[in-house]
Amino acid sequence: MWSSDLKVAEIIAVGSELLLGGRTDTNSVFLADLLAQQGIEVRFKSVVGDSVEDIGVVVKQAACRADLVLLTGGLGPTVDDLTREAVARVTGRPLRQRVQALRAIKASLASRGGTPTSFQLRQAAIPAGARVLPNPAGIAPGFALEWRGCLVIVLPGVPHEAKQLFTEVVLPMLAEKVGLREPADRRILHTFGLTESAVDQRLRSLFTQGKHIRLGVLASPLGVTISLTSWGQSLGGSGSSGPRKAATGQDRLVEKIRRRLHGYIFAEGQDSMEEVIGRTLTARGLTLSLAESCTGGLIVHRLTQVPGSSAYVERGVVCYSNRAKMELLGVKEKDLMNYGAVSSQVAGAMARGIRSRSRTDLGLSVTGIAGPSGGSPQKPVGLVYVGLATGRGCFTQEYRFHGDRSFIKLRASQGALDVVRRWLPVGIAKGK
Ligand code: ATP
Repeated sequence: MWSSDLKVAEIIAVGSELLLGGRTDTNSVFLADLLAQQGIEVRFKSVVGDSVEDIGVVVKQAACRADLVLLTGGLGPTVDDLTREAVARVTGRPLRQRVQALRAIKASLASRGGTPTSFQLRQAAIPAGARVLPNPAGIAPGFALEWRGCLVIVLPGVPHEAKQLFTEVVLPMLAEKVGLREPADRRILHTFGLTESAVDQRLRSLFTQGKHIRLGVLASPLGVTISLTSWGQSLGGSGSSGPRKAATGQDRLVEKIRRRLHGYIFAEGQDSMEEVIGRTLTARGLTLSLAESCTGGLIVHRLTQVPGSSAYVERGVVCYSNRAKMELLGVKEKDLMNYGAVSSQVAGAMARGIRSRSRTDLGLSVTGIAGPSGGSPQKPVGLVYVGLATGRGCFTQEYRFHGDRSFIKLRASQGALDVVRRWLPVGIAKGK
């Protein structure tokens, strides 16, 4: 019997295509998230190619250090789908054609008006003693078996099939067999404007506090994210005060983090910068227009991804060339000549121009050097100016970003939105 308290899991993504650079292993991302929600901690993940020997090696290793080993991929009908055979060999459970699996494959194909080929029938060969896991979204069934005190579960590779089979079949099976722990309690704080090391420095002394709470700091082009994860206890098990204790400890820690990162936290949980801004603009009845140069329309795209954005996004123009800045926004040629297109003066003129021409409460502009060429010692790649025109005047902000072109564009879009976020609380109101 496998461990009655599933604490530690390991995920193995099978598929040579995942090692060739063309495709990313996304299955382990949502599986890790779903496992964390069940209070099961993922300690290791690996990606292995389509080789019976290699798959065997990682399964063996994983079974030594985890209570639950989850594999995805390599269950299909083609010659490179070798997970069934690899698991059968390493566990010493020969493949057997299973009536239940055969029926499920035939039924699934019949519902699509087909009959199985001999290759598709191979998918009904499951290691002896394994429990067949019907695939609600596809043809190849998964399976679960106990081996060396560990529960080994094999899922299909197609992401939506793996997800559906895991949530609809595996989770209920785990709940029935072993009972699940209380879900991990996870809080996420999103910041912009501080580097990862600056965040780390401000929070370093908090990292040792609350040993039930794991603090994580993760940098991306959109900012630095801080996660706090507290692991629950077995449901019905001893120490039921644990999660509650962890939750209050977590609240205290979140408060301390908020104080130390005051002004830099723009959202919590699943919220994004564009959603936060959208809500604030809607609540205040404010409208916004945009003039984008180096971001090429990315900011308008992000804002209009939010349902209901027509309430506050009036228009956006992409004014890449100097001519466009003059014709569409009324930027003066002498400003472009004297200060350059990437300057605080031009960013301000762009913001004022788009605001007055579109008659919105706010005008937001961005101009910068996304690279890789076009930089100079005075104006390096990554230099970005943001302008925000309001009824109370015009503000500009200079940023110096690092990274490649797409990274700089994304950061510039986030930096521009952050200027709006920072200025909104200081009294930009309708008609002002
Ligand atoms: P099929 O029955 O379609 O052959 P399978 O279980 O054999 O399913 P694979 O053949 O390994 O799965 O992969 C099917 C598809 O899912 C491929 O496009 C593959 O790139 C993709 N895929 C497999 N594993 C992953 C993963 N870990 N993350 C994201 N995509 C994946």
